[in-house]
Amino acid sequence: MAATLRDTRSAELYERAVKYLPGGVNSPVRAMRAIGRDPLFIERGAGAELTDIDGNTYIDYVCSWGPLILGHAHPAVLEAITQTAALGTTFGAPTAREVDLAEELSRRMPAIEMLRMTSSGTEAAMSAIRLARAVTGREKLLKFAGAYHGHVDGLLAQAGSGLATAGQPSSPGVPATATAATVIVPWNDPAAVERALAEHEFAAILAEPYPANMGLVLPATGFLELLSARASETGALLIFDEVITGLRIARGGAQELTGVLPDITVMGKIVGGGLPAGAYGGSRDLMERIAPAGDVYQAGTLSGNPLAVAAALATLAQLDESAYLRLQATTQQLADGLRDAAGDVPVQVAHTTGLLTVFFSEEPVRDYAGAAACDTGRYAAWCRALLARGVYPPPSQFEAWFPSLAHTAEHVERTLEAAAAAFAEVA
Ligand SMILES: *Cc1c(COP(=O)(O)O)cnc(C)c1O
Repeated sequence: MAATLRDTRSAELYERAVKYLPGGVNSPVRAMRAIGRDPLFIERGAGAELTDIDGNTYIDYVCSWGPLILGHAHPAVLEAITQTAALGTTFGAPTAREVDLAEELSRRMPAIEMLRMTSSGTEAAMSAIRLARAVTGREKLLKFAGAYHGHVDGLLAQAGSGLATAGQPSSPGVPATATAATVIVPWNDPAAVERALAEHEFAAILAEPYPANMGLVLPATGFLELLSARASETGALLIFDEVITGLRIARGGAQELTGVLPDITVMGKIVGGGLPAGAYGGSRDLMERIAPAGDVYQAGTLSGNPLAVAAALATLAQLDESAYLRLQATTQQLADGLRDAAGDVPVQVAHTTGLLTVFFSEEPVRDYAGAAACDTGRYAAWCRALLARGVYPPPSQFEAWFPSLAHTAEHVERTLEAAAAAFAEVA
């Protein structure tokens, strides 16, 4: 039986929103166009649940796209933010807590000895690339199809005609000169990487070690090791964009989980504890090239913002070994349960601790071409059916689910019931 969703108020607000905000939103995927509906306007969140302005409550698997590993409005995070705010929200001068956070991040992330904080992941990725170019004296970048590193001009690129050639802008407004230095190859394709390395001298190989912006596509055995070995043999730096994976798939991110250490690590999302923040870091040697220690310029009015730093420290204080074991168990139950709930609907459920994607595909998904070949129409219908049953999934096949520590066994059970009914509806 088809469930329905009350959305009169969201629809009214959307009508107002589109007059003043492009598409009615401040970031495209929120508009829910990929699943063929208008956006839902959120009133509040608590733990694993969201409530919209029409009074519908959902189990939330977006969790603001990753930052909220503790769920919404965690009491310790709220307390840290309010206590800090009472002392002033920003100074544009150093504070003790940002030194605490830098120390704590370098304790957790094996490849970070020193770091610089920014206000977003995009800014961190852009700055990491500048550093790699400064250090190597080279300009070209190797990136992977389907990976996302923020809306930096040079990275809004798609593969040109012919393999291992210059990237072409994937958005109007991006100069061809900005993407000409970007070469794009398929993820998990060692031969394509070798061809690109044979043709170009790269400043950096830039990768999401566990790509989660084409849906979650795990690295094939040995692929990250290959990137690391070939980067150092060819004089390129290896940059891991751990904006999603850092502090999520393990205490020390993908670099701890796999033992493959990048030269530069890009962070975001959890690193702001639900407030705007990013960071990039690496060895002391590399990072001391950044001004004012060194000659590579990079700055930010709100970088190391006291509220974001307080939220991050409060979040990290909850993230001990047992937290990751719990998150792993929750994700595993969800992944196994979704596979069962699918019945005859052909799906592939990819997962690792704290991340999951349901691909509507007969075949395991290994790269962007595989993700693009999925039945996105059916995914869209399934998502609409989930929303109508009180589950809020990422409204695009090309995004990951973000289960949090606030998701309990009861949430998982209710999710799987809704998922089974939604699968039956789209079968
Ligand atoms: C979200 C994301 C970014 C960009 O971070 P913003 O804070 O949105 O600028 C960069 N890289 C990856 C892997 C991301 O998922």
